[in-house]
Amino acid sequence: MSALLPVEEAQARLLALCAPLAAEKISFSECFGRYTSDDIVAQRDQPAAPQSAMDGYAIRFADLPGPWTIIGESAAGTAPDRRVNAGEAMRIFTGAMLPDGADTVIVQEDVTAYDTTLPLTGDGPGPRGRHIRARASDFAAGDCLLPAGTRLTPGAIAAAAMSGANQLAVGRRPRVAILTTGDELVQAGRALAPGQIPDSNSPMLAAMLAGEPAIVSLPHHVRDDRAILAKVLKDLVRRHDVIVTVGGASVGDHDHVRDALQDAGGNIDFWKIAMRPGKPLIAGRIGDAVLLGLPGNPSSAFVTATLFLLPLLRHLAGARDPLPAIHQAPLATALDGGGARRDYLRARLENGRLTPFVGQDSGMTQPLATANALLIRDIAAAPRDAGAMAHYIVIA
Ligand code: AMP
Ligand code: MG
Repeated sequence: MSALLPVEEAQARLLALCAPLAAEKISFSECFGRYTSDDIVAQRDQPAAPQSAMDGYAIRFADLPGPWTIIGESAAGTAPDRRVNAGEAMRIFTGAMLPDGADTVIVQEDVTAYDTTLPLTGDGPGPRGRHIRARASDFAAGDCLLPAGTRLTPGAIAAAAMSGANQLAVGRRPRVAILTTGDELVQAGRALAPGQIPDSNSPMLAAMLAGEPAIVSLPHHVRDDRAILAKVLKDLVRRHDVIVTVGGASVGDHDHVRDALQDAGGNIDFWKIAMRPGKPLIAGRIGDAVLLGLPGNPSSAFVTATLFLLPLLRHLAGARDPLPAIHQAPLATALDGGGARRDYLRARLENGRLTPFVGQDSGMTQPLATANALLIRDIAAAPRDAGAMAHYIVIA
């Protein structure tokens, strides 16, 4: 058992196998989910000049309580055409530039306009400067809005767009091939002969990768044949940065991934991790590509893809922090102690409490349908009562 690699060590070795891919410049419409290659530094102040946060009237605070003479209008999109002098008010709208001379905005609910005369009919604005967004109150030119290696979420894209950037430098997306192995597998939806099962891992992995910065080829399938597998690996390596095999990673007579990798000129960096499910995971290199060999059991493939494949793709695409975040929550039920490998128990987090499923057989797919968390139980962890804290990873 001592030969099994701890999960963190295996993750670190996998990421050390390959450097992030080169950067490319892309437009905002393409950048969702990508990772920034450079710091995004604001090129402008936002707002670039003081502006109104409300619909109302721009006045001089010293003129309160009014009344005022309305001298014109400032709407979003154009600069005001004159300044506000003593006793004057300018109609103003949200996002419009504050005219020179004014220092406060009264909301329209607090005044009533009679032609060009504007008396106060409500409470007034409060302190000087009320309802004004000061210049650079959002950010100033030179501020770092997003450090390099940040995932471009919708909010991050908004900040980058407002910063004055034109195109964004992001890490290139790895080209990924998924290669299922196994004589028993049939494309999901097709008729099954006795002994055959639907290939559930291909559509599962395609869905896991759909939100990731990766270019995924159509899935490939090969029979349990070492020579064919080696030939297909040699072929795929010419067009891909990552080759993911599924199944055939263990020690059975029909498990050919390790031998085929070597036949194809690749080499294994590590094999067998101190985790359950997922022990037979293989990582290696072939040509310029990384090979990740996932075990075929559905839960094993899911857990190893979560802990290794997604971080590998994020690392290649330029993520600063590619590993899944680990959270804590109290257990809803008691939990037995841990064994010789770290467990990633399919579990459900509901109302802030974690319930591990009773069925943890790695061959089962049904628990994957309802799990929204992987509960982490460390090697030799002591038994815990309900209410004790446990670590988990969000998976849905
Ligand atoms: P293996 O890792 O090839 O030894 O496969 C372990 C178990 O996972 C076997 O019961 C296989 O039938 C099953 N399995 C392998 N690949 C897939 C797949 N793509 N979809 C669903 N089950 C699979
Ligand atoms: Mg197999």
